[in-house]
Amino acid sequence: MAPLTQDFSSIAESFLKQIESFEYKSAARSIGKVISVGDGIALVDGLADVKASELVEFSSGVLGIALNLEEASVGVVVMGDYTTIEVGDEVRTTGRISSVPAGEGLIGRVVDPLGQPIDGKGPIAVEAIMPIERIAPGVIERKEVDTPVQTGIVAIDALTPIGRGQRELVIGDRQTGKTAICLDTIINQKDGDMICIYVAIGQRAGQVAQVYATLQEYGAMDNTIIVVASASSPAPLQYLAPYAGCAMGEFFMDQGRDVLVVYDDLSKHAWAYREMSLILRRPPGREAYPGDIFSLHSRLLERSVRLRDEFVIVEEGTEVTKETETGVNGKVYFGNLAEDHFEADLKELGAGYEVKKVPGTGGSLTALPIIETLLGDVSAYIPTNVISITDGQIFLETDLFNAGQRPAINAGVSVSRVGSAAQTKAMKAVAGGLKSDLAQFAELAAFAQFGSDLDAATQRQLARGERLMEILKQPQYSPYPLDHEVYLIYASTRGYLDKIDKNKIDQWSKAFLRYMDTAFPEIGREMRQTGKKPDLDAIGEAITDFNATWSD
Ligand code: ATP
Ligand code: MG
Repeated sequence: MAPLTQDFSSIAESFLKQIESFEYKSAARSIGKVISVGDGIALVDGLADVKASELVEFSSGVLGIALNLEEASVGVVVMGDYTTIEVGDEVRTTGRISSVPAGEGLIGRVVDPLGQPIDGKGPIAVEAIMPIERIAPGVIERKEVDTPVQTGIVAIDALTPIGRGQRELVIGDRQTGKTAICLDTIINQKDGDMICIYVAIGQRAGQVAQVYATLQEYGAMDNTIIVVASASSPAPLQYLAPYAGCAMGEFFMDQGRDVLVVYDDLSKHAWAYREMSLILRRPPGREAYPGDIFSLHSRLLERSVRLRDEFVIVEEGTEVTKETETGVNGKVYFGNLAEDHFEADLKELGAGYEVKKVPGTGGSLTALPIIETLLGDVSAYIPTNVISITDGQIFLETDLFNAGQRPAINAGVSVSRVGSAAQTKAMKAVAGGLKSDLAQFAELAAFAQFGSDLDAATQRQLARGERLMEILKQPQYSPYPLDHEVYLIYASTRGYLDKIDKNKIDQWSKAFLRYMDTAFPEIGREMRQTGKKPDLDAIGEAITDFNATWSD
């Protein structure tokens, strides 16, 4: 054992070193006083060098965000119980821009927009603090959208496919199945690789509890986070919720993972922001919304992105981390031709080198914002704004919904500007003419109401269209796997259903899918695993065989 004296002297030495290197630092924190408080907003005097969006702390411990920086006062939105704040209370700046905790620990949990658990399941381990607002990645950092988010809803996957990194708006009147579509999409990810974040804004607490119960029941909470600012939460928290959800998603995206965020809904978000702004006395503009409401939503949705993959060449066996900026030859490979380039350079370098993907690259964040319309009016202020910010919309219609066509998707006006780029080859092979078939049908059906003597060709087209519409009906919570979607679209668009009683289509498709699963499991498995175009003739023959045995 070493003599004690030696130990003591080394301890003393280290103390001395620390004392020598100690620097007296003072941080400037400005302090202000509350002039007035109410409706979740506090006006504060002082705070001369507060920054926009900086977190400030009230003497009661409640946090706020400085939003309105004016000469005489600062408008602070209170993130929490504003009744604990009194006129004259002290307010301090924190030097921090508003942020939320993020990490794996959030998965499966229900949290408020500040990341605090509200499901009574105890504290959450925090891995990182993410800024609530972050500048969206630029064009160079992005990759084109080319991989689908499989929703499991045949009408969407076939007609308006959603790509990873895309922003697809779900829009419709009250009670038209907007939430249902998004929940089904989340449920369909339960065995997949995506992290889902459901942001509930301004909904009744009971509705959110229902969503939680549903996701739990279908086993989808294992990869889902729910962020809630319910109708009873103060407007500032509702305003914050989508940014918080997005920031939590970005944490996973930065690790190279794929994230889906549902904003349910941005109409209520806009209301909350309007309320907040009016109390802050910002000048009201169109429909009394503040002028920056467009920027508010575009800032949020711009953050949906498919990041590029990056590759480097390193000596064999070298571990690559996010910090490895360039490989042995000083290059990073990305973009469409990356593979051609690194293959060529690798050959040139000779043996002993290998190509590795930089971990944490290639992640994506897909957004499904929801907007509620009034009597189908898409030309109101908020709907037009969000339509113009997104890459397409799924338009839900009350008339279709009431007529029993559920999901009530109007195929004519629903679009995905990313389109078939985000479709698997299997789906692309069968879904091609579907949209025009449906459009023709809609036109003919309207026309057919007026006369009864239709020629045989028209009657055939009508019959085909009716069966297509039947195939696109789908109950809630029963997403289809890709192969089933392909079978159904193929059968209905190629006329294999023309002779089936249109009231029996539902039974037919159930029996048919069971038949395919048992008689040709390998065709389905291949499609699910690779997404490749199947042997359509083989499927056609299988349907013919099945139809020969089918009797209704
Ligand atoms: P809100 O405007 O109130 O948010 P919403 O547009 O989100 O409504 P949902 O709550 O999703 O609509 O659905 C409305 C009702 O329709 C619910 O009772 C739901 O169960 C039912 N519904 C939705 N989709 C389907 C479907 N595909 N098949 C049968 N019922 C459905
Ligand atoms: Mg809803």
